[in-house]
Amino acid sequence: MKDLVVATRNRGKLQEIREVLDGVVDMVYCAADFPDFPETIEDGLTFRDNALKKAREAMLFTGLPALADDSGLVVDALDGRPGVYSARFAGHGANDGDNNRRLLEELGNVPATQRMAAFVCVLAFVTPDGVEQVFSGRVGGTILKSERGKGGFGYDPLFLVDGFDRTMAELSLEEKNAISHRGQALHVFREFIKQRQ
Ligand code: IMP
Repeated sequence: MKDLVVATRNRGKLQEIREVLDGVVDMVYCAADFPDFPETIEDGLTFRDNALKKAREAMLFTGLPALADDSGLVVDALDGRPGVYSARFAGHGANDGDNNRRLLEELGNVPATQRMAAFVCVLAFVTPDGVEQVFSGRVGGTILKSERGKGGFGYDPLFLVDGFDRTMAELSLEEKNAISHRGQALHVFREFIKQRQ
């Protein structure tokens, strides 16, 4: 595939997406490559709704095939929160540190055995000739009581990955992409693109 625009300003996501799509997409553009790229209002109640909305707006604005990711953290003890509100858990304009502090506060002294969570990702792919396709991925883990590791972004330092003795922030980019919610969805998308070529 020649050109693809990824509807994100999140550098962590973009780095992960570029790594997996290397070799199947010639040029991966992002929101920052286009002046006045629209800021989609993420008012959907599901990851799927938000991902499709972002991808459609990006495709219409650029005229290019567009990929959008909507993803977040779902915590059992918080009845699935922060979910679609993961990026602004600590309020509008919150950064990763603010959101992680909020998560630790909300979980308080909930014991390790009840701190189960999952990262969920939905990718939407929309093209000018009418293709609309959705891909998803999920990875389970446990929320720690303090941060560990410097890699990744977002809630990664608090997320102990199921089956590993490491947090998502202690994995290399390649290791994270091999198992993560976004990595899983991206690998299915990669195969989809390869089939179309
Ligand atoms: P979105 O940009 O609206 O999809 O919000 C995604 C938010 O979910 C991010 O800002 C992070 O807080 C969280 N998130 C999504 N994927 C990851 C990940 O791979 N690691 C850590 N946090 C993530």
